[in-house]
Amino acid sequence: MKALTDVRNVYVHAPFCARRCCYCDFAVEVDRRPDSAEWLAAVRTELEWVEGSGTVSLAPSLETLYVGGGTPSLLDPRRVAELAGVFGHSTRTPGFEWTVEANPESFTGRVARRWAEGGVNRVSFGVQSFSRAALRWMGRLHSADDADVAVETARAAGISNLSIDLIFGLPAAVSRDWKGDLEHALTLRAPHISLYGLTVEKGTPLARAVGERRVTPCGESRYREEYLLAAETLARAGYEHYELSNFALPGFASRHNTACWQGAPYLGLGNGAHSYAGGRRWWNERGWAVYRDQVIRTGSGLSGEETPGPRQARLEGVWLALRTRKGLRAAGLDAVASSVADRWKTRGLAERKDGAVHLTPKGWLLLDALTLELDAALERSDPEGPVGPPGASGPVDGGGPREIFKYPGVRHETM
Ligand code: SF4
Repeated sequence: MKALTDVRNVYVHAPFCARRCCYCDFAVEVDRRPDSAEWLAAVRTELEWVEGSGTVSLAPSLETLYVGGGTPSLLDPRRVAELAGVFGHSTRTPGFEWTVEANPESFTGRVARRWAEGGVNRVSFGVQSFSRAALRWMGRLHSADDADVAVETARAAGISNLSIDLIFGLPAAVSRDWKGDLEHALTLRAPHISLYGLTVEKGTPLARAVGERRVTPCGESRYREEYLLAAETLARAGYEHYELSNFALPGFASRHNTACWQGAPYLGLGNGAHSYAGGRRWWNERGWAVYRDQVIRTGSGLSGEETPGPRQARLEGVWLALRTRKGLRAAGLDAVASSVADRWKTRGLAERKDGAVHLTPKGWLLLDALTLELDAALERSDPEGPVGPPGASGPVDGGGPREIFKYPGVRHETM
């Protein structure tokens, strides 16, 4: 295995949640009082194995560290802060972005202060909605007030680079005012907002309820309306829609996710985490106990790996590039592919600007179909030609790349 020395972006998974939300199929372990020391020890051991085995070598200075879950705010905050020691001096560089995800109900003043002291400089809150009925339906443990308080608590501790997650596309039977939620979110003045379209995932309580006809999922037209309303509302408030599900005030785009979308190598540690480097992808055991025991036994959390071939890499490259506002380099398109992009432009699905093709919000709603259409055009002209970023396969938060073509449903990830 070839060792790499340029990994600058790291994801660490913290799998514990006090309760499982009705729609969640993430790598989660339900545990109200997780053993934080055991979690940290497993992460440390795995990192030592990864570096010792020559799988990956971290760059002398990391650019980003992202701790996702699960609910990292459920862990003893001292252990989260100690991650700085696990990664050493590489986290003490100017511009280093250290994000940790939190749920409002467990994000106390103590958590905020400890995280800030340890070097955490960005917090991503799983807010989802400000409607009591919607939060209860989802199985969330916090109230709308908790979300407001959590944002203020972070600021009081000196962390002002904040993101909030909202879910749209809830079943019509759930009492929820999407416009009101967006307006409430804007009052918090968080510089970053992520949107998630609710999807029904196999094996979840939601999937069972849908299967038994107790719940009717959101129809396509309302899904579309809610997404477009959010895109318009947030753009009007000054947020740049820089990726299909992410919005940021100037200067506040997530550096971690952006690096992954651009095909930079990244290392994932913890159960269910994915990694990508040197054209190869690998992922860890999904279950916490299986992962932990394997790491204790062998040092490695590895479960599987793959190296996408040129065609798969091209398809994924197109998909990744089209996710972002930056889009796809027009120079990489031949006449056939270029005429496809022109047709999209005529239909209001794409724009051509600054030497690139990028999708509009209407186009993002069709991301998978458009990716396949463009890839088919490229296939006809150059069966193995590269386009867009190299073959990484998706967002890293939430444990690494998620399945491609999960759409409709903007990024589906850990909250
Ligand atoms: S959605 Fe988030 S908080 Fe809810 S169970 Fe899944 S990871 Fe935990």
